Amino acid sequence: MKKYDVIVIGGGHAGCEAALASARMGASTLMLTLNLDNIALMPCNPAIGGVGKGHMVREIDALGGQMARVIDKTGIQFRMLNASKGPAVQGNRAQADKHQYKTEMRRVLETQPNLDIAIEEAEEFLIHNQTIRGIRTIQGTEYLAPAVVITTGTFLKGKIHIGMDSRPAGRVGEQPSNKLSDSFLNCGFELGRLKTGTPPRLLRDSIDFSACEKQEGDPNPKPFSFTTESVADRPRVPCHITYANAETARVIQNNLHLSPLYSGKIEGIGPRYCPSIEDKFVKFPDKTKHHIFLEPEGLDTDWIYPNGISTSLPESVQLEFVRTIAGLENAEIVRPGYAVEYDYIPPTQLQPTLETKRVAGLYLAGQINGTSGYEEAAAQGLIAGVNAALKVQHRPPFTLTRMDAYIGVMIDDLVTKGTQEPYRMFTSRAEYRLILRQDNADQRLMGKGHALGLVPAEVYQRCVEKQNAVQKEIQRLDSTSVVPDQDTRPLLAKMGIDELKGPTTLSGLLRRPEIRYRQLLDVFNGAEVPEAVSELVEIEVKYAAFIHRQNQMVAKQKKLENFVVPAELDYAGIPGLSNEEVQKLERIRPTTLGQAARISGVNPSAVTILMLWLDRRSKNNSGSMQTPTPARTS
Ligand code: FAD
Repeated sequence: MKKYDVIVIGGGHAGCEAALASARMGASTLMLTLNLDNIALMPCNPAIGGVGKGHMVREIDALGGQMARVIDKTGIQFRMLNASKGPAVQGNRAQADKHQYKTEMRRVLETQPNLDIAIEEAEEFLIHNQTIRGIRTIQGTEYLAPAVVITTGTFLKGKIHIGMDSRPAGRVGEQPSNKLSDSFLNCGFELGRLKTGTPPRLLRDSIDFSACEKQEGDPNPKPFSFTTESVADRPRVPCHITYANAETARVIQNNLHLSPLYSGKIEGIGPRYCPSIEDKFVKFPDKTKHHIFLEPEGLDTDWIYPNGISTSLPESVQLEFVRTIAGLENAEIVRPGYAVEYDYIPPTQLQPTLETKRVAGLYLAGQINGTSGYEEAAAQGLIAGVNAALKVQHRPPFTLTRMDAYIGVMIDDLVTKGTQEPYRMFTSRAEYRLILRQDNADQRLMGKGHALGLVPAEVYQRCVEKQNAVQKEIQRLDSTSVVPDQDTRPLLAKMGIDELKGPTTLSGLLRRPEIRYRQLLDVFNGAEVPEAVSELVEIEVKYAAFIHRQNQMVAKQKKLENFVVPAELDYAGIPGLSNEEVQKLERIRPTTLGQAARISGVNPSAVTILMLWLDRRSKNNSGSMQTPTPARTS
């Protein structure tokens, strides 16, 4: 028997962040994984970030997580997506050298004090009185800990499919984890079944890139981490774009009877937003042209990842349809695409801390909770690892709301609404997009990361200084007036402003859509402002009215979010709630009125009833409480 404070099962993206957070917070931590060489493996696209996902990578970084720092060191192409659109929907994305990525993450883990790594398969929970005590491995070792974080990804009863051939596997070439799945069932957890898939990998030299469009990274690439000065010296490798076409569609349609997806062999529900190429042609038969991005998997590998043609058709059919695509006429497949089906734990069984409601001290994070994607997994891993460490240190739990972060949006969606298909982050999931931008993640979250002990004082100090510089500069712009006269008219003309009716502040000028902050500085001799500061100043001034409106909405919402609902509330005893509402509230057991309001099937009138009931209960704590009968408002 070996004792730790926290045990993390799994060395994927969730497991890495969970183990690092816990160890960095001073908890003695053990990570168990099936394969040391596959720590932080990217089994699908060799890339980190994107719109929504990139936001979460920045948030992980602001909270003291690792993902951003690793991709900054191992990226081989950086692009700010949606750069021409508004700041709320811009997201950084980097192609990763996937081998360097996992090597670097493993180095960080192996040099982390307080953290041990063991290569063993966890098979059974050790539980006493609905509380976790530890874990037994298949090798018979018992590891004891008061907090355990499970991050087993696609491994629970994993089964992979290539055509009609299917076999048990967590990922290609890796054994599934079957016994742990049974252990969840034995504890009374509800399990579901999902699936995901990956495309065939192609040999670089077999591709005619001259028949494809070249896609370079940004000339001025931006790092993910607030602590990385620059990624300008990283290698810059181009990607290429080609298209699936009518002939590709014909080959696939002709072979659908060989698809495990369409012959009923696969039961798990796949990702709506990352469909297989079979799905694309079947669900949208009129659309035959689909983008395919040819992405290098790294600097020292010949493997190319064709993003957009995930498939589980037989290998011979994969080769046939791949060769219908421009530039891929002679392509060689080095590894066929496949689908993987796996058990997941519907996440309404979790609290916002990611601790299970059923077993105290047991936390779940990553794909096991029904999400898809490295960033979604890493973000949950960080929150679960933090809360596991807080629990053993007898400190209050840590949660993020929908108003704090995309991470808060994701966890609230998962624990309140659950998911029946692989959940992926999009900016459209967030109500307060203009506040939750990727550029201000440090301003929103670094203080919290510092308070947790995950962000060093000097890093947080720089964040505070940046915020002060931004505020000072905004005040200067607000208080500096430009009076149209013979001195200023030529300067205004330089910026394309022909006529100014009266005196205007510099912020007033900046709010004009055609005026950029840098231009304003050049023309009106502003002081030198660092890029990170100028970016924030420009956005905060240009979008001030919208940001103000969202802040007002947030203030209103906070009233509901701060209204705590006791865990053991007897909903059936509250008059006025419908049976359906009682059932749903009992199932989710919301922690706040805000969360209660988001449960599907719980009407606004029920939230009012709940609020009045709780109000009266707290006022009448003597025990002689009268039964309130609030009127239901429609
Ligand atoms: P994983 O990265 O899967 O890590 C699981 C870890 O748990 C591994 O280290 C494993 O060794 C360990 N483990 C499992 N069982 C045990 C046990 N009993 N004891 C000890 N250790 C154990 N995401 C997308 O966003 N888009 C996609 O298109 C996409 N396609 C995918 C295709 C495939 C084939 C696969 C496998 C994944 C795909 N993903 C995709 C998902 C993405 O890889 C995951 O969301 C992400 O890696 C999940 O991270 P995780 O940490 O939850 O789990």
